[in-house]
Amino acid sequence: MNNTNETNQTLTVDVCIVGAGPGGALLSNLLNRQGISTALIERQPHLHKSFRGELLNTDGEAILNKHGLYSIIAERGALPLEEIQYWEDGKIIKTIFPSDEVSHVGIHVPQDHLLEIIVTQSQQQEQNHEHILFNTIMTGILREKTGKPVGINIRQNGVPSSIEASIIVGADGRYSAVRKHSGMIPLIRKHGYDLLWARIPAPVGWEPAVRMASMDGQQLALFSQFGGYVQIGWNIPQGSYSKLRELPFTPFVQKLVTAFPCLADSVKAHIQTWSDFVLLSVESSYSETWTQDNIVLIGDAAHTMTPTGAFGLNAALEDADMLAELLTRMAQDQFASMKPLQELQSLRGDKVKQQLARQIEMEVSFQQRYESFLN
Ligand SMILES: Cc1cc2nc3c(=O)[nH]c(=O)nc-3n(C[C@H](O)[C@H](O)[C@H](O)COP(=O)(O)OP(=O)(O)OC[C@H]3O[C@@H](n4cnc5c(N)ncnc54)[C@H](O)[C@@H]3O)c2cc1C
Repeated sequence: MNNTNETNQTLTVDVCIVGAGPGGALLSNLLNRQGISTALIERQPHLHKSFRGELLNTDGEAILNKHGLYSIIAERGALPLEEIQYWEDGKIIKTIFPSDEVSHVGIHVPQDHLLEIIVTQSQQQEQNHEHILFNTIMTGILREKTGKPVGINIRQNGVPSSIEASIIVGADGRYSAVRKHSGMIPLIRKHGYDLLWARIPAPVGWEPAVRMASMDGQQLALFSQFGGYVQIGWNIPQGSYSKLRELPFTPFVQKLVTAFPCLADSVKAHIQTWSDFVLLSVESSYSETWTQDNIVLIGDAAHTMTPTGAFGLNAALEDADMLAELLTRMAQDQFASMKPLQELQSLRGDKVKQQLARQIEMEVSFQQRYESFLN
């Protein structure tokens, strides 16, 4: 891969994108295709992350197809999930199949594959205008004396430096530094639950599916994953984890086996202590404004979603696609006017708000839906 870990010198680009998650990586790729120079900066030393959004829905799939990326990603490895199963007392009580027009209820795409393909495909453009800087953290906004943002301050491999840019994009996730340094305020909402995640090998012969169970009124969800794994998402009451950890571990994990007896061997071998779970503190947020001057937010930085319904990854890809169109238009007059940036929120905000509302509906109705299947 070219251009990674470049030497510390001031770089000048059209668009500086903070965060090489799905939103930032796709945006950089699409701008590079249009001959717009970008700096894509990522604080991690690589693209590998565990426990991130990996379930692609039809919206995300459509964006990747539109840009000729989905087939390459699928070739690298993706797993369409065939149905949603609801379980009770170790048995399936209800199965929901996809509609006729869609052949899956979601596609598991390891985020490594997704990001690697998006980044590699971009770097292979005949004319490469994209600079990728790993181990680089955004530390502040670079401003003229007038206060006008002209780029960002960074620390690359620990060394302070800066990047000058006409446009600054915060694609840096739920705790966005770009959002914080530019004073944009997120409205944060708690959802009454946190999530424990674990990934274990799937039992042999398991069909690719989403499996749900209700455990003490809390949702337990299993997602088949590419490569023969199952990801477990276990809702626990918000803020309860430290108390939970004081309790004996075995009876807790036994509930998982009671809900899904076929997992018994894999659970026994791979979930032995509390440390085999990763805790996600669940919250959603919506930034009141997504733009300020020449700064714009996308993805989780603009609107963090909870994992319910698996919208977040897909929404980040949709934002990137839309922003790439706006920036391509703005590049035609050398970014003379920042007005088109504001269109992003007008074009995307309503759908995002609907998805945030849908998540709450899904969270509230889970138990009711379960009870209706049992009656
Ligand atoms: C456990 C979990 C499960 C989820 N499951 C799903 C799912 O199944 N389907 C779905 O659609 N969504 C899911 N989501 C949500 C999904 O992961 C996010 O919505 C999606 O990753 C957002 O993409 P993004 O590009 O906006 O930001 P992110 O993926 O968060 O990427 C932001 C990037 O910015 C980098 N960064 C942060 N700060 C700085 C800085 N100061 N300087 C430089 N770099 C920085 C980070 O290292 C990161 O790589 C899940 C989320 C979690 C946490």
